[in-house]
Amino acid sequence: MVARADKVTDPGIVAGLLLARRGQAYFSRKVTELRDDQLAEPSLLPGWTRAHVVAHVGLNARALTRLTQWAATGVETPMYASAEERDREIELAATLPVRAIRTLSDHAAVHLTVEWRDLKAEAWRHEVRTAQGRLVPVSETVWMRTREVWLHAVDLDNGGRLDDFPPELVDALLLDLVTVWRRRGAGLDLALTPTDRDWTIAVSDDARTVATGTAVQLVAWGAGRVRAGSSGGVRVGHRPAPPAPPWL
Ligand code: ZN
Repeated sequence: MVARADKVTDPGIVAGLLLARRGQAYFSRKVTELRDDQLAEPSLLPGWTRAHVVAHVGLNARALTRLTQWAATGVETPMYASAEERDREIELAATLPVRAIRTLSDHAAVHLTVEWRDLKAEAWRHEVRTAQGRLVPVSETVWMRTREVWLHAVDLDNGGRLDDFPPELVDALLLDLVTVWRRRGAGLDLALTPTDRDWTIAVSDDARTVATGTAVQLVAWGAGRVRAGSSGGVRVGHRPAPPAPPWL
C-alpha cells in the first residue's frame, strides 16, 4: 500500500482540514452513541428528529463533494438543484431505515475526505458557488463542513456541547457570525465582546450595542443554540440580550 496524503500545501487549508476532520470524528462518535430507536427522537432543531440531522449532515457532505469535484474537473456542479430539492431530499432521507441513514452519513463523509485529499494544490483556489449563490474558492468548503459537523453534533442532543469545541473553532465561529451579519444587514448595530478574550468584534464600525458573554455563550446565542426565550447568559448592558439576528 502506498501512503496517501493531502496534496494541498497551504498551511491555512491544512489546519482547516484538521479541524474539519476532528469535527467529523466528534459528530460520528455522537451518532454511534445513539441507539437506533433514539434516532427517531427530536433533535434540538425545531421540527427535525435526530434522523433528519444525520441525513442532512450526510447530504451536506455529498453537496460539498460536488463542489470539490467541480474544482477538480472544471465542470460546474451545483451543491443542490434548488432549495426545495435540498429540503425534499432531507425529508426523504430521514425516512430511510436507520442503518441506511448511518451508512449515508459515513460513506458521504469518507467520499468528501477522499475528494479533498486528492484535490491538487493549485485547484484549491478554483471558484465554486455556494447554495446561497456566492462565488467562493473551493477551500471555503472546508469551513462550511467544519461548521456543520461540530454544531450539528450538539444538535443531536445526546451530550455534545459547545464547551467541547477547541478555542480556535469558537473564535472562527464568532468571526463567521459577524461576517455573515455584515454581509446581510448593512449597518447592523452590534458588537460582540467575549469576556474570556481580549478583543471585541463589531458588525458595523459605529456599533453601540455590545453583547457580552463568554466566547462560547456568544456563539450559542449568535448561532441560535439557546433555549427559546433565553439569552444563554449573553447580556447587552445589564439586561439579557434579545434574540440574535438570523445567521445561516
Ligand atoms: Zn446544516
